[in-house]
Amino acid sequence: MLRDKIISILKSYKLEDLRIGTLGSHSALNILRGAKDEGFETVCVCKENERRIYENFGVADKIVEVENFQELLNKDVQDLLRKLNVILIPHGSFNAYIGRLSELLLPIFGNRELMMWEIDRIKQRKWFEKAGVRMPRRYESPDKINKLCIVKFPGARGGKGYFLASSCKEFYEKAEKFVKSGILAEEDIKDAEIQEYIVGATVYFSFFYSPVNSRIELIAIDRRYESNADAIGRIPAKEQMNSEIDPTYTVIGNIPIVLRESLLSKAFDAAERIVDVSREIAYPGMVGPFCIETVFDEKAEMYVFEISARIVAGTNVGIPSSPYSYILFGENMYMGRRIAREIKMAVEKDMISEVIY
Ligand code: AMP
Ligand code: AMP
Repeated sequence: MLRDKIISILKSYKLEDLRIGTLGSHSALNILRGAKDEGFETVCVCKENERRIYENFGVADKIVEVENFQELLNKDVQDLLRKLNVILIPHGSFNAYIGRLSELLLPIFGNRELMMWEIDRIKQRKWFEKAGVRMPRRYESPDKINKLCIVKFPGARGGKGYFLASSCKEFYEKAEKFVKSGILAEEDIKDAEIQEYIVGATVYFSFFYSPVNSRIELIAIDRRYESNADAIGRIPAKEQMNSEIDPTYTVIGNIPIVLRESLLSKAFDAAERIVDVSREIAYPGMVGPFCIETVFDEKAEMYVFEISARIVAGTNVGIPSSPYSYILFGENMYMGRRIAREIKMAVEKDMISEVIY
């Protein structure tokens, strides 16, 4: 079994000389800075173009340059990282640019099997259904559309190519328009996920499940800053009508949020149920960072529309601390640092094989 193989690789590591490594993109600054704050040496696998970023910020003790991120799967790169005793911290680029995580014979912090659940929308829905959390309704096919829907496409593509449609006709019109302009590929259309559009405020909760402390911790809350969905409100209705602008959801950045306090229990309730079910679907269940993506409607009902079973870039808003992580830890704490702290504590408590897969 892959997990046994990874644990045996970890057993060959010098635990007093562990390094923390990741791919140079997405939330690497957060992860590498956090590792350094906890006293680890760091390794950044990056492309030539981005090398200067990680050098400039001084977060990478060692840089391994690659032409593309897929090279992380090459034998020589993996051999080198194993020699350096690297534990890898996965982020959005691992799914977006690599995929085949089963070929990565290096210890990963977290649970790589849950990352495979994350990219499969059918599996994700099953997970939420088992957990009993409220979700937006899903439409089986475009001809079932009878109200405002959001249409999504596979892969961690940060909202790119999503559109709204209120009828089957509108679905195909927009899909064709997006294919013509090169935003979507023809074969994407059959894989579209059609969801009821929930009118409300989007809120992204970044939690951390700590096997060492046996608890769920809220590390930060953010919302996405999306183009051009967040630009449309700045254009008066008349100009919008004349220029036929469609909202799209390409993520550009993130904005921190502090939630109305009485709503926090809804998020904790969902997080607990999601973590409980994770143990049934993918042993040993959730480990480390995960993000629950939600919309709160006008009655403040919370709908969960996505989960990420790893660090999300939205946690970058919580460096060096978010209000929540400060209240919990009484010191600066952010997701990259929290990950490194867990690795450190797991080594001390002889639990390291319980936090990697
Ligand atoms: P990048 O390195 O910017 O190409 O991002 C790597 C992957 O993570 C892509 O699939 C992006 O869509 C996704 N991503 C990057 N930043 C964010 C963010 N702030 N929120 C959500 N997804 C993101
Ligand atoms: P996702 O890739 O699923 O994280 O969605 C990207 C963006 O689409 C979110 O940040 C929201 O702005 C929007 N969105 C996704 N699902 C829904 C939904 N069911 N109702 C309303 N907005 C949504």
